[in-house]
Amino acid sequence: MAGNRETQLIGSGAPSRGAGPDFAVPRVRVQDLIDSVNSLRPGTLGTELAGGTELADLINQLRGLEDLKSAIACAQARITVAFDAAQRSAESDLGVPVAEQGRGVGAQIALARRESPARGSRLLGLAKALVAEMPHTLAALDTGQLNEWRATLLVKETACLAAEDRCAVDEELAADTGVFDGAGDKAIITAARAAAYRRDPRSVTQRASHAATERHVSLRPAPDTMTYLTALLPVAQGVAVHAALSRHADTLRPAGDTRSRGQIMTDALVERTTGTPAGICGVEVQLVMTDRTLFQGDSEPARLPGYGIVPAGWARTMLAGNHQAGHDGDLKLWLRRLFTAPRSGELVGIDSRARFFPAGLRRFIQARDDTCRTPYCDAPIRHFDHIVPRHGGGPTSLSNGAGLCEACNHTKELPGWTARTGTGRARHVIEFRTPTGHHYASTAPPLPGTEPPRTGPPGTDPPIIAALHSRRSRRKLRHYVKALKFARVTELQAA
Ligand SMILES: [Zn+2]
Repeated sequence: MAGNRETQLIGSGAPSRGAGPDFAVPRVRVQDLIDSVNSLRPGTLGTELAGGTELADLINQLRGLEDLKSAIACAQARITVAFDAAQRSAESDLGVPVAEQGRGVGAQIALARRESPARGSRLLGLAKALVAEMPHTLAALDTGQLNEWRATLLVKETACLAAEDRCAVDEELAADTGVFDGAGDKAIITAARAAAYRRDPRSVTQRASHAATERHVSLRPAPDTMTYLTALLPVAQGVAVHAALSRHADTLRPAGDTRSRGQIMTDALVERTTGTPAGICGVEVQLVMTDRTLFQGDSEPARLPGYGIVPAGWARTMLAGNHQAGHDGDLKLWLRRLFTAPRSGELVGIDSRARFFPAGLRRFIQARDDTCRTPYCDAPIRHFDHIVPRHGGGPTSLSNGAGLCEACNHTKELPGWTARTGTGRARHVIEFRTPTGHHYASTAPPLPGTEPPRTGPPGTDPPIIAALHSRRSRRKLRHYVKALKFARVTELQAA
């Protein structure tokens, strides 16, 4: 779903107070740099490329720009550290306890660099390590001998060491002397690991035991409405799970099961985890689709939260319950209708007087926002947040509700951070304001059925969508929806 979210930096305020000498980067110099890079365009192909000199020049430009990217990464690291120090010093002046200083710095770095909050925190950690503990690696970045990714590898491989050991490893590797010329990622990792192990074998061993605390299960989309369910496990457990599934397949295959080994293992994984053969019973799978797709065979794709866009035909087949050959299709799939406004694709919902978002409203917000609403954050929604807080007079409504991940919800509560509902767009907009006075806007992703801009003559909506224009018809449709709610899909199809 990345890329659906429209975000933009819509303004910037004055830099924060407490700016040190390194912090004030003249904006005009950066703009000059951007302009001169943009002026580097290859001439008309075919005319200028006749001689070897022009060809060589193109390669020289590529290398020069690569060096520039590394130098820029180095400058960004220095600026990041200066920003962190400036915010901490300002907070110290205000009497903020040391343990609470620097909160939200990673989130601000993330927004400025158009990255997710998690990556923003990693970039902050990388910058601090480079500037404070790894001067040789930083110098290599500055001169283009390492790019940002390879500098990251050196920082990662020495992360388990104490500051002085890391300094020593940095000195031993001496990345700024050209030792890594021509070295690939693996060679750099190997060199860093060997140096770290020589310096402090015990830390490296402890790091292996710490790795087990990072076990997790994740889901990401694969092509053709498939998905990768990935588990990061301690090696013994991973081998045990794989062996158990293999053994199961080995007992069924000789008994005449025609499925492939891989198919049996996968089916067993689903069955043993969810408790049912098809894996869907008792677990809500929330398909967001238009009524045209469901009832009229329309080709407008649907959205499956946690996965992304699925083809219309696949969505209908799944609702019919026979999407998996070999199973009886007795899936308890329930139909819940979410209405979308005819043109904008904004969800039409009801408001509530409750202090917490009631279940129905949460479903609407989940369907509208799909993932965390912070710009560049694709994390799953964990909190349903009042954009304008309750104590600030914010209502419990669809418009004032936002789906956020846990980390972003905590960041939003920090001093200096505010949010409000934006205006002037068809879809739901949230405007975030950071402590430096920068504004970032987040527009809800388009729902299935959202009209692409400037296509089709007006007034050509199917009747059921056109009916949504009038309030009375909308009431009628809601009544219709109530009748549909909790009806078995199979019964629906018979009707
Ligand atoms: Zn988030």
